[in-house]
Amino acid sequence: MKNILESKFIQEFSNVIDRMYLLGWDERNAGNVSFILDQAELSLYLDLSKPGRLYPLQINAKALAGKYLLVTGSGKYFKNVKEHPEANSCIVKVTENGDHVEILWGLKPTERPTSELSTHLASHISRLEIDPTHRVIIHTHTTYTNMMSAITELDEKTFSKALWGLNTENIIIFPEGIGIIPWEIPGNGIIGKNTADKFKTFKIVLWPLHGVVACGDTLDSTFGLVETVEKAAMTYLTIKPFSNHKLISDEDLLRLAKAFNVKPNEAFIK
Ligand SMILES: [Zn+2]
Repeated sequence: MKNILESKFIQEFSNVIDRMYLLGWDERNAGNVSFILDQAELSLYLDLSKPGRLYPLQINAKALAGKYLLVTGSGKYFKNVKEHPEANSCIVKVTENGDHVEILWGLKPTERPTSELSTHLASHISRLEIDPTHRVIIHTHTTYTNMMSAITELDEKTFSKALWGLNTENIIIFPEGIGIIPWEIPGNGIIGKNTADKFKTFKIVLWPLHGVVACGDTLDSTFGLVETVEKAAMTYLTIKPFSNHKLISDEDLLRLAKAFNVKPNEAFIK
């Protein structure tokens, strides 16, 4: 077996998590990430014939049966993942009946995957139904997007158009806009279901006064989406006090979408 700590998936996972910590988004044990792994690639690093420790799920994830995921651990600090991936994250396999995962690698026997595991699994199921290349869910406490949620009307159209209007390339990166769910207690079934439902339309979902959850086919593209939204929110908060500020017009947003062959959310602009 090859050394799993040298695998591309552990290195990429650890690097993205470390970057989010350094951006100030993931204080203490904030944030969680899950990454669907390729079985053939994983089998070079881990004996997949050995059964793992069973951990029960809050939802039925039968649609993901047999899938392997690299997931951050409950209560673990993003600050420590890069130096000690095995102590702060784990690899799980969804069981055939979908009501448990087996923990195959990482964490101590008394420890468990993120308390948002069911939110992640429900979100993976939702995205895989519309995008077979989907692999990543990131939840993080983005500073400026969170601040923006405190002072802006929590309306998806208003929020999305403010974010699109601040940088010429934003509508190309997230033409669906940003989804918003009502404020909710983290780790419960309601927030997981609401988030997974939003992922049927959007690739990034705002949890007001908390952070965002984003999805993508790679760690880079998912991180890049969060980074783009977060920078737009920072720009928004900086220019908001200036009464003469301008935004890209609807007409120009539509020209941009056409030029880059993306389809903006018709509920927001047409
Ligand atoms: Zn959180």
